[in-house]
Amino acid sequence: MGTLSGSPLDSPAVAAGEALADQAHLEWDTPLFEQAQVQLEQALPHADVAPAIAERLRYPERAFMFSVPVELDDGTLRVFPAYRVQHSSVLGPTKGGIRYDAEVTLGECAALAVWMTWKCALLRLPYGGAKGGVRCNPRSLSPGELQRMTRRFTSELLPIIGPQEDIPAPDMATNEQTMAWMMDTYSMQKGYAVPEIVTGKPISIGGSVFRHEATGAGVVMVTERACDRLGLSLASARCVVQGFGNVGGIAAQELVDRGATVVAVSDMSGGVHDEAGLDLESVRAWVAEHRTLEGYPHAAGLSNAELIELPCDVLVLAAREDQVTAENAGRVQARLIAEGANGPTSIEADAILAERGIPVLPDILTNAGGVTVSYFEWVQDLGRLFWDGREIRSRLAEKLSDASDRVWELSQTRGLSLRGAALVVGIREVAAAMEARGTYP
Ligand code: NAD
Repeated sequence: MGTLSGSPLDSPAVAAGEALADQAHLEWDTPLFEQAQVQLEQALPHADVAPAIAERLRYPERAFMFSVPVELDDGTLRVFPAYRVQHSSVLGPTKGGIRYDAEVTLGECAALAVWMTWKCALLRLPYGGAKGGVRCNPRSLSPGELQRMTRRFTSELLPIIGPQEDIPAPDMATNEQTMAWMMDTYSMQKGYAVPEIVTGKPISIGGSVFRHEATGAGVVMVTERACDRLGLSLASARCVVQGFGNVGGIAAQELVDRGATVVAVSDMSGGVHDEAGLDLESVRAWVAEHRTLEGYPHAAGLSNAELIELPCDVLVLAAREDQVTAENAGRVQARLIAEGANGPTSIEADAILAERGIPVLPDILTNAGGVTVSYFEWVQDLGRLFWDGREIRSRLAEKLSDASDRVWELSQTRGLSLRGAALVVGIREVAAAMEARGTYP
């Protein structure tokens, strides 16, 4: 992990807050939060942001740490640690996913909340960033246990979420059903249906068509635009996809729909590989039945480490953070990397890939299709007026190509990496709003 440097702490107000800031840092001090902080420090010199505003952006506005008691099916009680972090509310309500994962920590949620702020601002959505989750092993919990956990988690969140305050969405190991339980729990407390409290819900209760597909489809829209700029043909590209959940599974299909060949996919059990191209329908059927790729009989197996190093045109990282690192970046043989997951490329790996001339389409742009259609879902819920799939797909394509163009232009004019440019564009949007509003009181 790189070191923090170049913080422009030169105003008296900032200096007075320095001790407090140092303490605040300790609370979420994890490698992922440091990664988010280093990215911010690297972008700030190009963002023309006042020092006091930069200092405010370094730390989340609010973090909520709590514990969730769940009665298990065998009658025993287990208590799970849970978190919700809200980074910035300057542009509107905070927005971000809920993840159920054994590695959820305050620092991980803080890093993901920071990235959500830049992502929403880059896409010009009237939101700030948030993230939350429960530290648990979701695969060891039954549907009944997951429902009880979700409902108690939501009740504990009541003081800090709301359609105008903070709007959760799905993330790793949470889905439409999780959002339906959250919406129902919130609505029962209010006494009437409040669909706009979460996004990524089932369509029957106010979800949006195309929300399920939006993140994976958006990954491919951004990749296609990048291929055009780089002179690569996506239709004849050989692609590798890490992660075969919501984002990776949809992205793989969208690639094939554009004529590309997907030669390998993986999940946490490992991957499957066929140079002639995988039959995705058959892979999906296997996963639907067995809940894992393990044992898939119609292609060769390989490890996730091997998959990342396969020669290919496009490598889509759609599993989780910290996958391409200083250790393996030198062996990546892709011509282009698309970050469907949040934070899959470490700071050191970014530098190695830049040196090797491998462009990285950054997470805050590439996976922004999900939050963009979540925004459409929230707008539809508030207006109680629903759009069709064609309209949503075309509005999404418009938003992503506008953001892609702003990122590529800044990257070229300022000589920045695509990640650097995306961060600068997002940070400038948030900073302009903070400048206009001033500091309360
Ligand atoms: P998911 O739970 O549906 O799928 C995750 C997939 O990654 C699964 O196939 C899982 O087995 C696999 N996986 C987990 N750990 C792995 C590992 N160490 N190696 C290889 N594979 C591994 O989750 P998702 O919603 O698809 O999210 C994936 C990533 O995309 C996360 O980083 C998430 O934050 C990000 N993301 C999701 C959305 C969304 O709308 N769902 C939006 C933006 C970003």
